Amino acid sequence: MELDVLAFGAHRDDIELTCAGTMLKLADHGYKTGIIDLTAGEMGTRGTPEEREKEAEESAKILMIQCRENLYIPDANIEINMENKLKVVKAIRKYKPKIIFLPYWQDRHPDHAHASQLVSESAFIAGLSKLMPEIPRHRPEKMIYYMCHYEFTPSFIVDITEQNDRKIKAIHCYKSQIYNPNYQGEQTYISSPEYLDSIEVRSRYYGGHIKCKHGEPFLLREAIEIKDIMALV
Ligand SMILES: [Zn+2]
Repeated sequence: MELDVLAFGAHRDDIELTCAGTMLKLADHGYKTGIIDLTAGEMGTRGTPEEREKEAEESAKILMIQCRENLYIPDANIEINMENKLKVVKAIRKYKPKIIFLPYWQDRHPDHAHASQLVSESAFIAGLSKLMPEIPRHRPEKMIYYMCHYEFTPSFIVDITEQNDRKIKAIHCYKSQIYNPNYQGEQTYISSPEYLDSIEVRSRYYGGHIKCKHGEPFLLREAIEIKDIMALV
């Protein structure tokens, strides 16, 4: 299977909370998308890896993705080492995405920052033919960073107004993680109603930048080539 876009998240729910609207929009347009979760989330304050696996499967159906895999790298300890890089390289070579979504390289959660570096370095070496020569090499054409906790000035913003309701539905699949008055467990910021508000406020804020209701911001390290400048208007 060859994908158009493969999104990497440190934890199950990272993609839903950051760029699910764009994933849905891509699927709506007929593009093939997939998600790789790097860890099983075993260090999370709430929920077990088994609960989170079921939640992620439920959400995957809403997001209309072709595949979702977990690399079982230790949670809260995403190391930039060759063992982990090879796991990511294998996933990239298996799905041959044209574009990779990955977390912005600076974040308050060290897993997000480390995931960013791990995926970025792995995507480069996935293109080296002498590395694991038994699997054909593949290097994605673009690395596109999504926003976690720390903000950046976006390279572009995607209008997700039509996808926002389904994005929120996907987020609500994570019953052990987000605000859920029926769930018995320790409270965290993510499980507070304010966190859900912050998702709404952020998408309204970035939507406002491009004069639409809901938007998701993205960043590239390099400049983007525009083939037809009139396509901008
Ligand atoms: Zn996370």
